Amino acid sequence: MRSLLSPEGRSALAGLASARNPLFAFDFDGTLAPIVTRPDDAQIPLPVSRRLGALAARRMVAVVTGRSVADVNARLGFAPKYVVGNHGAEGVSSSQAEAWARTLDPLRSTLRAAKSQLSACGVRVEDKGLSIALHYRTAADEAVARAAIEAVLRGLADELTVVGGKCVVNVVVRAAPDKGDALLALASECGADTGLFLGDDDNDEPAFAKLPPHWVTVRMGPDFARSQAAFYLDGPSQMATLLQMLLDLHHPP
Ligand SMILES: [Mg+2]
Repeated sequence: MRSLLSPEGRSALAGLASARNPLFAFDFDGTLAPIVTRPDDAQIPLPVSRRLGALAARRMVAVVTGRSVADVNARLGFAPKYVVGNHGAEGVSSSQAEAWARTLDPLRSTLRAAKSQLSACGVRVEDKGLSIALHYRTAADEAVARAAIEAVLRGLADELTVVGGKCVVNVVVRAAPDKGDALLALASECGADTGLFLGDDDNDEPAFAKLPPHWVTVRMGPDFARSQAAFYLDGPSQMATLLQMLLDLHHPP
């Protein structure tokens, strides 16, 4: 896998600039915003949000995140044309959304019953409507926290499945779109002939796998070796540089 800042990566980005209708899509945590101890504290650095806002004024920009749409919208500092939440389940083809949300009800009951046991291990439950996140970043002992999560998810209904992440276990509805399905639907809806997608975590891999090979796919951070993305970047600290390159490609300085 090559760096997006290598000659091959720069040439792929130049190809996007000359495409008719490219879609520029970004994950939020670990991509636009650095990972922080408390997910509630995550913010986009100002140089990134300013450049992203400028790109969104010229091109189709989407944010595709595991957070709920309402949560991420409040953190962006600009209004992209498309926002997809809940790992792909919220914001695209949502006629099934109510049924998907109800599929999580039995798990909600299980988690309510296990609430004190989970919080004693440092596990925080976040119900995002179309998915449920079990966070353990602040746990004193991560192995104990993970064991408590595994115990409570034992016998998970067939309609549900688990997506791993950085100090989080996400429970999603199996029938709901993942980020790959959501991006393909979005590209079709907005007539995008190609695009760029950057993400840093396991829930971004379906997008890297499902997007057509002429899309520019980028895994952020040190876990890129086992990724299906075509390129990598070191992390969110390189986002401002990348966005400036995209802006310069569209309007050369
Ligand atoms: Mg992420």
